[in-house]
Amino acid sequence: MNHNSPADIRHALADLGARPKKRWGQNFMVNPRTRDKLVRTLSSRSTDVVWEIGPGLGALSEALAERCKKLVLFEIDAGLVRYLKAGIAKARHVSLIEGDFVKTWQATEKKSGRPDRVVGNLPFSSASAIIGALAEANRISGRCLFTVQKELAERITAAPGTRNYSSFSVLCQVMADVVAHGELAPGTFYPVPEVTSAVVELRPHAKKPRIADRDFLLALIRAVFAARRKTLRNNLLAEGDFIGLSKAELLDIVEETGTDPGVRAEELSPAQIIEIANALSSARA
Ligand code: SAM
Repeated sequence: MNHNSPADIRHALADLGARPKKRWGQNFMVNPRTRDKLVRTLSSRSTDVVWEIGPGLGALSEALAERCKKLVLFEIDAGLVRYLKAGIAKARHVSLIEGDFVKTWQATEKKSGRPDRVVGNLPFSSASAIIGALAEANRISGRCLFTVQKELAERITAAPGTRNYSSFSVLCQVMADVVAHGELAPGTFYPVPEVTSAVVELRPHAKKPRIADRDFLLALIRAVFAARRKTLRNNLLAEGDFIGLSKAELLDIVEETGTDPGVRAEELSPAQIIEIANALSSARA
């Protein structure tokens, strides 16, 4: 089928007896130029395993399938799964995983290995859960390219000390290098969403930081951002029981890393947070 206009999507959905489902963020891509640009930016190679999250009616999938060794599609909507099974997923190198990506990716990875590329025009409501699941598990193993709500892209790429910098920015940036690839007008999609979208990339660090204990680092990120207006000292003292050090030890160790405990977490770079986490986790070992 064509995916080049709202009419193409309306006809395909009408054939399925379906309508776009808001709860699964079904805003289908209808701009071929944007689609081509995404596929070019992903730059998959003929030897790559590519995962696509939320293929929908396959707007991106057909071009992706031509440029990889194996394409794995993750789709939650049973009606769209039936449609994909009868079409693109018939190809020998394309497989289809039905269900919520957040619940299915780990078993898929266990069975068939890590992907070289991950791509998705993500549903607005679960984009942060999807990206967060991959980042928390340290699975930014290759280039990951996502279309998300503009505000989420801004959080992912925000620099320390800026309005959008949050625990989610730190999570993404300690696990990956992040790159903004610009905004997409609402008319890129059908139905036209009420918000603007943006394309964001997460890719393995060019210079990988040493993370002594990932789970400890994740817990520390949550603790230091627990109350945004509080200082690092006050958040650590209020939320730091899990660290297992005395208050005096905690603050001494933070100071030894060269960070003033009187700053707010939103002023700390991802590298500083990693350094504090590494110092604390070696002190408690
Ligand atoms: N890729 C298609 C396109 O660009 O036209 C569809 C994109 S649409 C924004 C999001 C797609 O993700 C829908 O097909 C929706 O059913 C699917 N989806 C929503 N939540 C999902 C989840 N948790 N796991 C897998 N797929 C999901």
